Amino acid sequence: MRLISELKFIVDNNVGKLAKWLRIMGYDTLFFNSRNDAHMIATALAEGRVILTRDTQIVKRRVITSGKLKAILIQSDKPELQMHQVIDTLSLDCQFRPFTLCLECNQALVVRNKQEVKDLVPPYVFQTQNQYMECPACHRIYWRGTHWQAMTQKLEKFIKS
Ligand SMILES: [Zn+2]
Repeated sequence: MRLISELKFIVDNNVGKLAKWLRIMGYDTLFFNSRNDAHMIATALAEGRVILTRDTQIVKRRVITSGKLKAILIQSDKPELQMHQVIDTLSLDCQFRPFTLCLECNQALVVRNKQEVKDLVPPYVFQTQNQYMECPACHRIYWRGTHWQAMTQKLEKFIKS
């Protein structure tokens, strides 16, 4: 089993939904929204990231066939099956860490105390939740609400199926 911090990803725009799932698991994941494959490969090499793509041309490149850079050619167009393939191929650690990275910008979340977020979250959330995290980049506030529970439960299903 790998340590979670060892693996980082770069997600091609043809499998963009994987970015959120991997961030929920706590994996540092860049979303690459450009058609410039050379730039994506250069970034992956420089930062030691695994490329996830559906582009068969990318995985034929010498830097990948030679094993210098790792890339996974995603088979399915369904996000659930894509995620399953990634988890399977890399034997991803199932001790995932929701609540560590911003799902939108991949920044490490920071702890906020309840009083600090009082005016930033809906009143019913404030009344029922005690733990909050904030993204230092986009300032979204995260809490362990039903949306998170639904997503992590879905993830557990992929892992076990
Ligand atoms: Zn953010």
